[in-house]
Amino acid sequence: MTDVATDQLQVWVDQDLCTGDGLCVQYAPEVFEFDVDGLAYVKGPDGELRLAPGARVDVPEHLRLEVIDSAKECPGECIHVVRGSDGVEVAGPEAED
Ligand code: SF4
Repeated sequence: MTDVATDQLQVWVDQDLCTGDGLCVQYAPEVFEFDVDGLAYVKGPDGELRLAPGARVDVPEHLRLEVIDSAKECPGECIHVVRGSDGVEVAGPEAED
């Protein structure tokens, strides 16, 4: 069973599908930010964007709901929230409902 409440979550963005609408940046600007290419990237606790394809960052505890909502509502279906322990997707296009 997925225990979203206690597991450390990580998030990554598939930029190939990003529409650049900015929903995620609005929801969680500490975690998502646009680069100069107009696409959303994840951001580490150091404030640096992770530009490598598939790069993941830890989801800060206080932003879990915002990041999960971003993944659920992302129009490009390109935000993947995964459980750090086993990589299972808990929100995003590959998550089970
Ligand atoms: S919500 Fe999805 S499609 Fe929109 S900017 Fe963020 S990652 Fe890109």
